[in-house]
This record gives sequence, C-alpha cells and structure tokens, in this order.
Amino acid sequence: MSTRAGMPRPEVRPTDQPPEGAVSADAQPMLSFTPKRRGKAPTHLVDLDLAARKKALTDLGLPAFRADQLSRHYFDRFTVDLQQMPDIPASMRDAIASLLPSLVEPVITQRADEGMTLKHLWRLFDGATVESVLMRYPQRTTLCVSSQAGCGMACPFCATGQMGLSRNLSTAEIIDQVRQAQFACRTGELSGGPTRLTNIVFMGMGEPLANYKAVIAALHRLIDPSPEGFGMSARHITVSTVGLVPAIDKLAREGLPVTLAISLHAPDDDLRDELIPVNSRWKVAELLDAARRYFLATGRRVSIEYALIKDMNDHVRRAKLLADELNARGKGWAHVNPIPLNPTPGTIWTASTRRAQNAFLATLRDNGISTSIRDTRGSDIDGACGQLATAVKDSHRSAELNTLEGNKRANE
Ligand code: SAH
Repeated sequence: MSTRAGMPRPEVRPTDQPPEGAVSADAQPMLSFTPKRRGKAPTHLVDLDLAARKKALTDLGLPAFRADQLSRHYFDRFTVDLQQMPDIPASMRDAIASLLPSLVEPVITQRADEGMTLKHLWRLFDGATVESVLMRYPQRTTLCVSSQAGCGMACPFCATGQMGLSRNLSTAEIIDQVRQAQFACRTGELSGGPTRLTNIVFMGMGEPLANYKAVIAALHRLIDPSPEGFGMSARHITVSTVGLVPAIDKLAREGLPVTLAISLHAPDDDLRDELIPVNSRWKVAELLDAARRYFLATGRRVSIEYALIKDMNDHVRRAKLLADELNARGKGWAHVNPIPLNPTPGTIWTASTRRAQNAFLATLRDNGISTSIRDTRGSDIDGACGQLATAVKDSHRSAELNTLEGNKRANE
C-alpha cells in the first residue's frame, strides 16, 4: 500500500489490519488520537518507579534490595544481561528475566557523518518498528527518540504522519532506546571514542504529548538520579509537540523543566490548518499562549520549529507575522528554529531556496526574534524517513538553544 505521496509504507503494522488513521492510496491520512491497541508491551522493570520495582521483586519472592542492584545495572552500566551481573545469584536469574523482557531489538544500523551519526531501526515485541538517531557533536551527544509507532497527527509533509498511528510505546520501549544509545556511547560505537550521552530530543516518530503518561514516566527515568533513572539534566531534554494545548499546560505543571519545542510551521491559521491538521482543534493564538505559559511556569525558553517549504510558508510577510505574534506575548521567551524542509519521497513540496531562508531569518532578527538555522548534518542518512533525518537537525539546534553560547550565536 502506498500513501497519497506515493511513499512505500514502512513496516509498522503488527497485523494485517491497517492501523487506525492509516491511509489508502487515494485518501488523506486522518487525525487520530486513539491508537488501535494490539496488546501492550510486556511489563518491564523500567516501566515502574523504584518503589514499584521493589514490589515486583517481592511479588516474585525475592528481596526488595535486588531492585536497587538491577536498577543500577540498567541505569549506570546500561546492561540487561543477567550473565554480566555478578552480584545477582544465578538461582534468581530465571525469575528476574521475566522482568527484563527484550523489547527493543536492532534491525538496521546506519552510519553517517563519518561515524558521528548512528541511525537505528528497532523492532518491538509485536513487530512494530521505530527509529532513533544518535549524533555526536564536539560539545554534546544527542539522541532523537520515538514515542509512538507511527503517528496520528497526519501532517502532510511528514513521513511518519503519512503512516497513521499504530500504537503508543511503553515507557520501557522509549527508555530502552536510550539505554542502548548510552551503551553505544560508552563503548565507543561512535567515531571519536567513548563519550557520554548528554541530550535527548523527542523528535523521532510519534507525538509525545499524545502518549502523555508513558512519556512523563520516561522523562522521570531520564532525569531522576540512579537508581531511579539515568540522572540526566532536564534542561538537556526537549519534548517536541504539534501543539496539544491541554497537554502543554499539564506538562508545565509536572515540575520537570524540560525544553518545549512547538512545531508551528505557519503563523496564520489559514496555512497552519493545511500543514498541521490538529490546528483545527487548537489555533495558532491558543498554541502560542500555551507556549508562553510554559515559559512562565518553567523559565525554559520555548523553541519554535518552522520547516521552510518553498513558496508555501517561507514568505517575508509570514516571518514578520511570526515575529509580531511572538513579540505580542513578550520578549526573549522563544527561539525560532527554521529548518529547510526535508522532502519526503513523492511529495510535491521542496525546501525553500537559500535566498528565501536568509530573508526569513533576517526578518525575524530585524524584529528582535532570536533564531538560528543550521546546515544539514545527517543528510547522507537514508532519506526514507525524512522526518527522522530532519529531527536530527532539529536536535542539533534544540540542544544548542538553552546554552549561553547558543544564545550568543543565535543573536550574531
Ligand atoms: N510530533 C512531534 C515530534 C516529532 S517530529 C512534533 O510534531 O513536534 C519532529 C519535528 O520534525 C517536528 O517539528 C516536525 O514538524 C518536523 N518535521 C517532520 N517532517 C519534516 C520534514 N519532512 N521536513 C522538516 N521537518 C519535518
């Protein structure tokens, strides 16, 4: 089956039934919030917080302190191999193995950028596949993770948006992408030798705020110190959303000061209705108000994502309107990340010209908006997943956003 854009459908379907929100050759994908559940991933230790992990062990007739040991193996040593855990008695291994099901299996690994970029295709327990991309930079290493198999948001320019929503990932399915990246960093799988994973961006497949509960638990596993979680810095974690306003407000109340990225792509409802179907529910003004509230609640500068599409949304008057909309809500609270469109196979849209990009940026800057555009690192990665390749570029920028260095550079 192919999509409207003629793109072959990636193998994300666990059964022969098309997923809800799926498209046929002559239909547009439809907005969908409800995954068609085909069973959840088996419960894994890291779906649970530490207290629940202890309970899971005592339920197996094992001492609670084993939960600490296992958690440290997972979050400090990045291992799930019971053979590599000398402090766990061999007699307990079978029982414990039931809490460590293998959920995220590598299918394909691609290297790009002279080994500084590693893109993984993973197979989940039910055959669904998702991707993540690990990128090394001089000052940081960033992982772009998936939060859903497919996506229900149906954005017409996005490769994943064309697939429809298959299902939500569980917390452990999200976190195990991270553990494996941590392991790859530590063991020196990226060029340049061993390094540390510093940044996470939820810019892979899926709409993270449509899988709210699992994503919040995943954020806790990322941020909470060991043995609860990896102990990463919240400010180095970016959650990117198409603009689910109530969920943005909820996220602001979680007390997790992660960076919020808004996929705006148009400053006016006429155009955004076309580019982002969920704009039919929450309009540009409501979305920017929510983004501003997020900034006020967390103190984290919000990132505005804007894929520049030739003759579609790249006009100087739209840059001016965007600047006006942001300035109307205060100064210095948002940073705009224009990204040249990464065309998905078969699409009629292309990236803006360099000239149009420059004019767009100049207009934003002339109107007091901090903004930065980046070169297309990762461009030699297989373009089949246009969205992930783009997310890699996004991650580069987003990670930069909240550093002083980034601020300075953006304002140059
Ligand atoms: N669903 C979330 C996160 C996943 S997409 C969201 O919409 O924010 C990550 C980013 O890549 C989003 O800003 C998305 O709009 C953008 N994107 C998707 N397809 C793209 C493409 N073909 N070219 C450029 N950016 C794209």
